[in-house]
Amino acid sequence: MPGPFVTTGERRSTPVVRITERTLAAAGSLARGVSPNELGGIIVGWWEGGRVAIVDDLLPVPDDRAGRAHYERRQWPAQRVLDDYLRTGTSPYSGYIGEWHSHPEPQPPSPIDRGALSAIVRQVHCPIALLVLALDRQGEVAVHGLVGRSRWPHRAVIEHTVVERMEP
Ligand SMILES: [Zn+2]
Repeated sequence: MPGPFVTTGERRSTPVVRITERTLAAAGSLARGVSPNELGGIIVGWWEGGRVAIVDDLLPVPDDRAGRAHYERRQWPAQRVLDDYLRTGTSPYSGYIGEWHSHPEPQPPSPIDRGALSAIVRQVHCPIALLVLALDRQGEVAVHGLVGRSRWPHRAVIEHTVVERMEP
């Protein structure tokens, strides 16, 4: 007999992040431009049913101190970028849904990336997406997606997502 906090039997589908090739290409080209340093910023878009994130755009937030294996998304520049987006954005549903950054090497999210995602999730108590755009030697972009959620009382759960790359 399951206890009150056991969620056995609850079947959840893998979370999905949907993004257009055009958006990816634009962010990928910005990332290639600063390689071998990292670039990153915030994801704007919306959630459908809590499991599907629709990406409207990947907004860059410059970090003066970014390095080869280091990008830190800083709060005040990010807030400015988001405010500008919300002021001029065309979709009333769209807002902050997560974080993205590039890796100049073909590497998936690091333990540090997962830790940073957990820290954000524990602060905001809503699902947060993380996309890592990993560049390979040919300059192609492989996208890795994670979604973090808070769990009562202080835990963050991180899941891998399917990244659906849509045309155009
Ligand atoms: Zn990273």
